[in-house]
Amino acid sequence: MSIPSPAFRSRIREGLENATLQEALQRAVPSFLVSRSKAFEDLPDAEAVRDRARAIRAHTIAHLDRYLEQFAREVERRGGKVFWAATAREACDYIVNLARSRGVAMVAKSKSMVSEEIGLNHAMEAAGIRVVETDLGEFIIQLAGERPSHIITPAIHKRREDISKLFQKHLGMPPTDEIPEMTAAARRALRQVFLDARMGISGVNFGIAETGTLVLVTNEGNGRMVTTLPPIHVALMGIERVVPTWEDAEILLRVLARSATGQALTAYTSFLTGPRRREEPDGPEELHVVLVDNGRSRWLGTPLEEALYCIRCGACLNACPVYRAIGGHAYGSVYPGPIGSIVTPMLGDGNGAELAYASSLCGACQEICPVRIPIPDLLVRWRQMRAGSLLPVWERIGLQLYAHAARHPSLWARAGRWAMGLLRRLGREGWLRRGVGPLRAWTAVRDFPVPQRPAFRDWWTSRRGGGE
Ligand code: SF4
Repeated sequence: MSIPSPAFRSRIREGLENATLQEALQRAVPSFLVSRSKAFEDLPDAEAVRDRARAIRAHTIAHLDRYLEQFAREVERRGGKVFWAATAREACDYIVNLARSRGVAMVAKSKSMVSEEIGLNHAMEAAGIRVVETDLGEFIIQLAGERPSHIITPAIHKRREDISKLFQKHLGMPPTDEIPEMTAAARRALRQVFLDARMGISGVNFGIAETGTLVLVTNEGNGRMVTTLPPIHVALMGIERVVPTWEDAEILLRVLARSATGQALTAYTSFLTGPRRREEPDGPEELHVVLVDNGRSRWLGTPLEEALYCIRCGACLNACPVYRAIGGHAYGSVYPGPIGSIVTPMLGDGNGAELAYASSLCGACQEICPVRIPIPDLLVRWRQMRAGSLLPVWERIGLQLYAHAARHPSLWARAGRWAMGLLRRLGREGWLRRGVGPLRAWTAVRDFPVPQRPAFRDWWTSRRGGGE
């Protein structure tokens, strides 16, 4: 196998050649970055808040068993039911069986990356249960028969013209590209779904251990409909999303909203504690919290544990020059971008190790991450642990020789002189236009400058008037 694999290479090419995607990314991503910077500038002691957020995540993950048990106990004490799903299959089976046993024909769903991860929609539809996405971005993606291409804005790759065509085709909307008219068409279609669905499925941004409270953030209010109108609410939560206290949740919400959408607070921040109580006028009669492991616990106590600190704000995708060039679908995984390249092979069947190479290791992701995950270091870890074995033999031998030379200065100097001499011989008029070996990919799209004389090492040596 080579890296990138032929399938990955072809997805990259498709992304780069897709003019619609390129236009959509160039329109949307820079504005996210500007709003995010402005939001952090306006936050007093922003760096201290980020440090605190990181400390909360580190403490929680280090004591995950304790906080998960407390969370589950508190959910059940307030009338909810908790199901521990070790695998994606167990989570899907539980929800499908629950829906069947209650005679549910249609489910209203709000955004949940975990549901994408475990393939829930597919499992429900295979069981004859209709699932309707109610987050506008997810609704668009569902109509288009595609997968999300961004953690926060799933339809980022679509322009308003594309969405208009979809709505005309599926919702019978008259031709328009006026956003209020398009959202009104979606609202009309979804309103009936909220009223008819017998089960609502949501994700969970944070689960507060001290009271068993679910925290949900959305910008469209659909999360509130999904969790209060249908008689059954199923909340899907990755086990790492627990936080010890309300105070901790408040700190994390401060950095989540700012990093994700540049808002001080997400428009709808909901706190749900247990199912409807007797004296309450609304809310679900049943609450089921499905705690999904799906490989997460394998990584506790390992060097990759820090990836579990992620609060899925999506900022590292926006900052990443590779993501911005190829878009989310090129990764071929539910979680794209820098953090997706780390967590994809950590989850489920562990596929996707080659994604560790979908990065220039420039560090922009680490700089923007609100909980300061050392993403480049973790990507390098993956390369060392697993992805390295996917490299072709010649590349592995080449890297070993490189590492050996880099540890021996005189060998390094000799190899450098030899390589510079070779490049000068191959070049014409100061440029190499058709490279060989690893240089071929470089010169396919731009010329490579031939090393000039004197070489830096010779210049430095003569300046110091001594040997190396
Ligand atoms: S790694 Fe950091 S920046 Fe990326 S999604 Fe997670 S929390 Fe956000």
